[in-house]
Amino acid sequence: MSEPSQQSESAELREFRAEMRAFMREEAPKSLLGTSPCGPFDGYWGGKLHPPVDPDVLRWRDVTLARGLTAPTWPKAYGGAGLSYAHAKVFYDEMRELGLPRPVVGFGFAMIGPTLLQFGNEEQKLQHLPAICAGEIRWCQGYSEPNAGSDLANVQLACEPDGPDHFILNGQKVWTSHADRSDWIFCLARTDRSAKKQRGITFILVDMRTEGVTPRKIELISGASPFCETFFENVRVPRSNVVGEVNAGWTVAKALLGHERSMIGQSIGRDPGSTQRELVKLARKHLDAAEGPIPDPLLRDRVAAVSMEEAAFQLTLDRLAQSRAAGGPGTESSIMKIAATELKQRRFETGMALAGAQGLGWEGDAFDEEDLAYTREWLRSRANTIEGGSSEVQLNIIAKQVLGLPEVK
Ligand SMILES: Cc1cc2nc3c(=O)[nH]c(=O)nc-3n(C[C@H](O)[C@H](O)[C@H](O)COP(=O)(O)OP(=O)(O)OC[C@H]3O[C@@H](n4cnc5c(N)ncnc54)[C@H](O)[C@@H]3O)c2cc1C
Repeated sequence: MSEPSQQSESAELREFRAEMRAFMREEAPKSLLGTSPCGPFDGYWGGKLHPPVDPDVLRWRDVTLARGLTAPTWPKAYGGAGLSYAHAKVFYDEMRELGLPRPVVGFGFAMIGPTLLQFGNEEQKLQHLPAICAGEIRWCQGYSEPNAGSDLANVQLACEPDGPDHFILNGQKVWTSHADRSDWIFCLARTDRSAKKQRGITFILVDMRTEGVTPRKIELISGASPFCETFFENVRVPRSNVVGEVNAGWTVAKALLGHERSMIGQSIGRDPGSTQRELVKLARKHLDAAEGPIPDPLLRDRVAAVSMEEAAFQLTLDRLAQSRAAGGPGTESSIMKIAATELKQRRFETGMALAGAQGLGWEGDAFDEEDLAYTREWLRSRANTIEGGSSEVQLNIIAKQVLGLPEVK
């Protein structure tokens, strides 16, 4: 049965939906069906250092790439399909319906690609965007430093001219997600120490294979190492890798954060019904509720509330995507980021209340794989309100830029 939003679709969109459905049924590898929720970070991350082992992943990439569908809304000249948001949504809806992963995902699509479309020059767009579409290059983000997290404008990575055509970078980044697996990094660097701190920053792209770039893994208490510290020692970078103007990188940096925060919001928004299905499944497994309603009325109420909030949030995301004018997202990305990440944490807290002690497993025979994975996802959801700028930082932005409140000195 079609969703309410599909019933009001134009004839042209309905035709496009039928075309996409037929394309996927025909071309998508059968082994990938039903394997993914199709979120913006669920799929092949690309990159030279980590080619996919599964040939079906590459096949799915190839058939979509041939139609520009790895980046549906990007212009055709740079490897995209030039589709409207409404058409792209139809494409993603149909993939989600079949449980197909996005053909290629990552920070290239979520952050640097849209930023280059806004601020990059033609050479930069032609060099990087088609490579992102093809999943050839994996990107990481060189923003945070030991003394520049929430106070990001305090970045100190030194970037000094070396002749007319190069810069030399010296310093350190931290929390660089997947730097050890990435081919390129986009960095905020300090080019002028005498100016007000936002005015002396330059946005620069660095090939990770350049001599002097060293990512070092940070091992977490869980044993995983999703982050690195990334060191720069006399790293020589062409001036042509600067995006926008020298010393004007703060504007580019903020635009990229808008894309990052929107993407975090979108990655958390879910197709209507999936939260309810997930929570009811947990109740059936862990409570005395093999069938019929969840016995505890308070828990039942929480499941209903969080499911409704998720459905409403998804509709708001769709509305924002459709109404967005050309260019990047504005301050709404801060609102969506905080709403999405806190909603996700409420969803997991509800799930944990349903799972009880089974939700607290870390290892051991008393827990099955599903329980252990849920515990890890619940803990990971705590990081969502920190990455991309903490909730407090988003509230500061909203207070200043949306509500026009005075700054506290
Ligand atoms: C999962 C994850 C992935 C990440 N990936 C990357 C990455 O790939 N690249 C990258 O560059 N960075 C990355 N980061 C780093 C992230 O951007 C920073 O952690 C974040 O900006 C917060 O900075 P901080 O950790 O230095 O905390 P701090 O800035 O030290 O903040 C500590 C606490 O103080 C609060 N605080 C600080 N200033 C204010 C204020 N003015 N008003 C109110 N409260 C305030 C904060 O909200 C926070 O609770 C990642 C972080 C996480 C959790």
